[in-house]
Order: sequence, then structure tokens, then C-alpha cells
Amino acid sequence: MRQPIVIANWKMNGSAEANRLWVESFLNLKADLHCRTAVCAPFVYLSQMVELLKGTDVGVGAETVSVADKGAFTGEISASMLKDIGVTYCIVGHSERRTIWHESDENVAEQAEKLVAQGIAPVVCVGETLEEREAGKTEEVVLRQLRAVLARVPAAQFAAVAYEPVWAIGTGKTATPETAQEVHAAIRAALTEADAAAAQTLPILYGGSVKPANARELFLQPDIDGGLIGGAALKAEDFHSVCAAIDAD
Ligand code: PEP
Repeated sequence: MRQPIVIANWKMNGSAEANRLWVESFLNLKADLHCRTAVCAPFVYLSQMVELLKGTDVGVGAETVSVADKGAFTGEISASMLKDIGVTYCIVGHSERRTIWHESDENVAEQAEKLVAQGIAPVVCVGETLEEREAGKTEEVVLRQLRAVLARVPAAQFAAVAYEPVWAIGTGKTATPETAQEVHAAIRAALTEADAAAAQTLPILYGGSVKPANARELFLQPDIDGGLIGGAALKAEDFHSVCAAIDAD
């Protein structure tokens, strides 16, 4: 019913040569996978990645996008520019963007809206900080972030929702499968309220220190439909092992 997907988030990593080698290795390995895959890369490498992955079923995504369409916004990249070079996915609302660049729920929703207007599918990240979890606010925060996007973009237009507890990103601390499942179920319920049909098919991904050793138990949970993978996506072999933790139906 749901097609699982595992998405690499390279963040600010890579080089022209390293990317070429990564793609070569991953394409050699991926024949045995039972999930869709995509790679989100820094802006400057997106054209290269589109070219390297042309004719394959591996998607290419950006890591953020401007809320502006064009004009005097030095350093920004618009959704139409991403479309122009063949990008099909884009992460929005990653916690590093929310924290370091102070992106608000409203900014994130606007980004998603700009992307969808260009036919690019947003990967909508949500997640609570450690303080918010300890204050019992996980569901409140995650659903507030999600509903802000749903107010502007129908769930059917999302590529995925990615639940990424901020305390688990890049820290080596992973949510237990049960803890993650609880939040994923709440996300599924909120999506169902918005659009019951879309909620059944939309993948909800877990992100936060997923690696080959813990991917399988996470992906076995009923509402975890794949992952958004940071550190473990930097080596093609590790990313492949994480993807291989998704079983055939
Ligand atoms: C991320 O930043 O999206 C992420 C999940 O990172 P990591 O896998 O390194 O925790």
C-alpha cells in the first residue's frame, strides 16, 4: 500500500570526485533493494547528481529552497531554478535549518508551497528538541510543525514526512523503535484527519542516527516507511546497507 523510500541527506558534504565515486558504488550495489531511494545534495552538486543519476530510479533532491521566486535575494536558490536543472525532491524544515537559520513553521510551509508549484515534492521534516520531549510536548510540537505545512500544501503533494527528533540527529542516540512508532502513529492520525486517502500512501520516514545496525528494527514498525539518513549516507556501502534493511512486502 505504501512504497517505502530511503533518502540520503548529505548536508554540507561531498566533492565532484567523491560524488562520482559514491554514485558508481551505489548503482553497482542497489539491484537487490526493495525501496525507492533518493539523494539530497548541496546546491552546487545538484546538476552533477542529476547527470550522474540520469536514466536510473534514484531521485535527486535539494536540502532547502528559498521562499522567494526571483530577484534581489543574494545567495538564495528558488524552486523554479531547482526545477530547471531536473531536481524532483527537496527537504524542508530540517532541524538544522530551523535552529541555525531560524526558519519558522511559516517559512517551512512557504518553501513547501513554492516547491509544489514547480512540481517538486517536499520531504517535510518535523521533530522535537530534548527539552520539548522532556516537557511532554513531543506530539504538540511535531503536529504543530506538520499542520503549518498542511495549511498550505495538501498531503497528497508531499514526497514524505520525516520525523527527526532533534536530540537524535548526528548524536548517535536513536529513538527506540517503539518511541519512534508512537510519534509516527500520531503523524499518521493527523494526516488522516487532513486527507485519509493520502495518509494511507504517504511514507513517514524516521531520521536520527539511523545506521546499518539499527535500521531494520526501526523499519519493521508499522508506521515507519523508510528513513532520512545523514551520517550513514556519506558512504555508498553504508547507505546501501540501510536501504537493504527494508524487506520485500
Ligand atoms: C539528518 O540530519 O537528517 C539525519 C538524520 O542525520 P543523522 O543520520 O546523521 O543523524
